[in-house]
Amino acid sequence: MTKTTAPFKTRLFFALWPDESVLDALKRTRRALGIDQGRPVPADNFHVTLLFLGEVDDSAINDLEEMAAGIDAAPCELVLDRLEHWVRPAVLCLTASEIPESLAALVERLRRGVRKLGFRPEKRPFRPHLTLARKVRRRVVGRDVEPIRWPVREFVLVKSERDPEGSRYTVLARWPLGGGRRNVP
Ligand code: ATP
Ligand code: MG
Repeated sequence: MTKTTAPFKTRLFFALWPDESVLDALKRTRRALGIDQGRPVPADNFHVTLLFLGEVDDSAINDLEEMAAGIDAAPCELVLDRLEHWVRPAVLCLTASEIPESLAALVERLRRGVRKLGFRPEKRPFRPHLTLARKVRRRVVGRDVEPIRWPVREFVLVKSERDPEGSRYTVLARWPLGGGRRNVP
């Protein structure tokens, strides 16, 4: 009798990860906002998702990394300047009133790249956001906030794992924007 085993899978997404100075600014902003409801996202988990893949067979990870290494887009600056409450996912997030063209191009290239590998990426327009708190159910009126200027010089592939405390993320690989190729955590 042959026994088939399910392939190992990893939950993955492409993202922007804050450097120390952006992280400090994000922490300051959240403190200043004094959010009094919902579940705060641990600051170590702060990120902007570029493309969510979900559970991926481990055998596909190499192809995804090769695809990502072949993508280039110009570095840019993402300015997070709005606080928004998204009612349906019940999240409070920082958003950008303008999406840099090269960031939109990067996401489009990622979507095209994963499509070629057989994934079905989301079709909805890309809306960069950084989730500050979840399970925020009481209405919060959107407003402008002190802009956080995020120099976007690289993008990363992230593994997402659940543990009793919530999600745990690990950056698996990072790729610089604007020429040059690197593929180490
Ligand atoms: P948790 O699910 O434990 O509350 P999480 O949503 O941050 O935490 P994941 O579900 O692994 O963890 O999601 C990783 C990232 O991808 C998050 O930024 C999340 O908002 C985003 N994401 C998750 N599912 C989707 C989806 N179906 N479409 C688009 N983005 C998604
Ligand atoms: Mg989730």
